[in-house]
Amino acid sequence: MAEGFDPVDVAIVGGGIIGASTAYWLAKAGVPTALFEKGILACEQSSRNWGWVRTLSRDLPEVPLALLANRRWSEFQQQVDVGYCQNGLLYLQENDRDADDHARWYENAKVYGAQASFLTKRGAQKLLPASARAWTGAMYSASCGVAEPTKATAGIAALARQAGAIIVENCAVRGIERSAGRVSAVVTERGPVQARSVLVAAGAWSRLFCGNLGIEFPQLKVRGSVLRTAPFDANMWVSINGKDFTCRKRADGGYTVSQFSASLAELVPDSFRLMTKFIRPWIENRSIVRVRVSERFFDELRIPRRFSTDRETPFEHCRMLDPPPYAKGVEQAWTRLREAFPVFNGARIAHSWGGYIDVTPDAMPVIGALHDVPGLYLASGFSGHGFGIGPAVGECVAALICGNEPPVDLKPFCLTRFA
Ligand SMILES: Cc1cc2nc3c(=O)[nH]c(=O)nc-3n(C[C@H](O)[C@H](O)[C@H](O)COP(=O)(O)OP(=O)(O)OC[C@H]3O[C@@H](n4cnc5c(N)ncnc54)[C@H](O)[C@@H]3O)c2cc1C
Repeated sequence: MAEGFDPVDVAIVGGGIIGASTAYWLAKAGVPTALFEKGILACEQSSRNWGWVRTLSRDLPEVPLALLANRRWSEFQQQVDVGYCQNGLLYLQENDRDADDHARWYENAKVYGAQASFLTKRGAQKLLPASARAWTGAMYSASCGVAEPTKATAGIAALARQAGAIIVENCAVRGIERSAGRVSAVVTERGPVQARSVLVAAGAWSRLFCGNLGIEFPQLKVRGSVLRTAPFDANMWVSINGKDFTCRKRADGGYTVSQFSASLAELVPDSFRLMTKFIRPWIENRSIVRVRVSERFFDELRIPRRFSTDRETPFEHCRMLDPPPYAKGVEQAWTRLREAFPVFNGARIAHSWGGYIDVTPDAMPVIGALHDVPGLYLASGFSGHGFGIGPAVGECVAALICGNEPPVDLKPFCLTRFA
């Protein structure tokens, strides 16, 4: 037994928003839980994202998760500052095709409870007085919001700790132990910790972790890039999604700016292994995700796909994925934003950063039990939109592990859909 760690019911691999919120819901239900993070909490995707908490334009099975998450974010905000506010979100339209796409999404999504309104040209202008461009209209949701990625996971983890969860940073999980076929422990770099159930919430590392257990999880990484301005008043509080820029107000007074096309799919050995599953999404999304050859091919080639738990593993070798931003992508977003909203010419860029987004072939996560190994669960592959639904995912996974009916149907998120 690792020194200082008592046996737990549930061990969680990964301290991003998914791991932290699951730890919270488990601890709140009185389940002895320990979360292990190889770096520091939220050091990867969960602190690097845009901060959007959105229902608009979600894949339909995720809509109920998004609606539940809105409630949970505001409950969290009442207990700890996660930077949550419902400031509204606008999907801007430039032509009839945009309007038709939005109307089609809403027609299907309202069956799941989504709410949106459609603004005319004048309505959009009214919400965006600083705009220099005449939008043909907009899809709008007042209930969409933002939370602060630099505060949210730490805040939720603090609530989990208060409820009794053990949260351990700088401690990688190397693998699991099994007894009579089912999970019996996690092996951390500080030794084994007995656990009856293990949740893999390892973000971009989940494929490697599962692969070492003989479980195939089709997941690749896409490099996203973002910038923030110094505090600045553009008289704009609502978040906006234009064709080639996105922008949202930050709690520190600045704005977070990016665009969907600031994403790079770098070719790595896994790209070829998973080619048949990803070729279609690459082609369909070629206007927003650019496929590139990069030196990361050789970095990933050096990572062993099978490793033993009695020596250093790739998880300790790289405590934090910290890619540089794709400069062209963020510069273009910044230029387009300033063309549409010239007021931003008075703002100063304070910082830009990159982050690896973990993606699946259908851009939906896997959330569920891995039936090949009883006691093992996976919640990963959130494909660039797991932050907003994180609090609801944690609640659903906790229910599943406890043997209860999750508040949202998780069947669409099973791993077997990729078999
Ligand atoms: C640039 C960018 C913009 C985005 N914008 C949005 C947005 O606006 N809204 C939205 O909803 N989503 C957004 N996302 C996606 C969102 O950030 C992710 O879906 C979400 O944070 C995933 O959370 P996670 O907990 O699954 O993964 P992560 O946050 O990546 O956490 C996984 C953690 O597991 C740890 N780990 C891995 N292996 C091990 C191991 N063996 N042992 C211990 N620890 C381990 C890692 O160090 C990491 O901290 C964006 C992502 C990026 C990168």
